[in-house]
Amino acid sequence: MIVLKTHSELERMKKACRISAESLNVAEEIIRPGVTTKEIDRAMHDFIVRSGAKPSFLGLYGFPASACISVNDVVIHGIPSDYRLENGDIVSIDVGACCDGFHGDNAYTFVVGETSEENWTLLRVTEESLYKGIEAAVVGNRIGDISNAVQSHVTPYGFGIVRQFVGHGVGKALHEEPEVPNFGRPGRGPRLVEGMTIAIEPMITLEGDAVTIDADKWTTRTKSGKCAAHFEHTIAITKDGPVILTVR
Ligand code: MG
Repeated sequence: MIVLKTHSELERMKKACRISAESLNVAEEIIRPGVTTKEIDRAMHDFIVRSGAKPSFLGLYGFPASACISVNDVVIHGIPSDYRLENGDIVSIDVGACCDGFHGDNAYTFVVGETSEENWTLLRVTEESLYKGIEAAVVGNRIGDISNAVQSHVTPYGFGIVRQFVGHGVGKALHEEPEVPNFGRPGRGPRLVEGMTIAIEPMITLEGDAVTIDADKWTTRTKSGKCAAHFEHTIAITKDGPVILTVR
């Protein structure tokens, strides 16, 4: 069932989304060669708690940290560790915050120092595809229109679209219906109506769609070993068009 939010619920949800977004700023400030992904997670955790929210991911399905921090070939669900970031790494950080009964969910891929031309292109195209998806999130369209907008932007570059994981509704639960795939046919899937709140989150790789999951049951890597990028916003569908709730 798709849960629609009233105007006042949307207003409440904005706070969780803002804290979730600002925690990415906290990460960005400390990302540099030598910092560990655990240190980044700790700083984000402390910021979220200080802001009066709860980290949505901590303990969810047993996840052991507040942020998923995924380096290079790790697409999503990287567990913060003692790994020290190196110049040239790309690091995808996915984080959620919960307060006043609602969640916000967002992700961004950062560059550590300088990285390769192909990585820069991957990041640019993945972020652009997120905004193409958001543009298609208008009343009267269907989920498939969002999916197809993302896919159509990415495909000409020859990059891989991860299919095993998808975006989702978000609200009182972090993961609600509907699923929001990053591939699909226009005009298919649930109709978009006012009051829907969804997380759109393209996960794009330099090569291939296939992923593997480590023995820790979380860390999700590209099968090719090539880098991946992940950008995500929580948005609201309104009669005036899509509204990004996780504005940084
Ligand atoms: Mg999400």
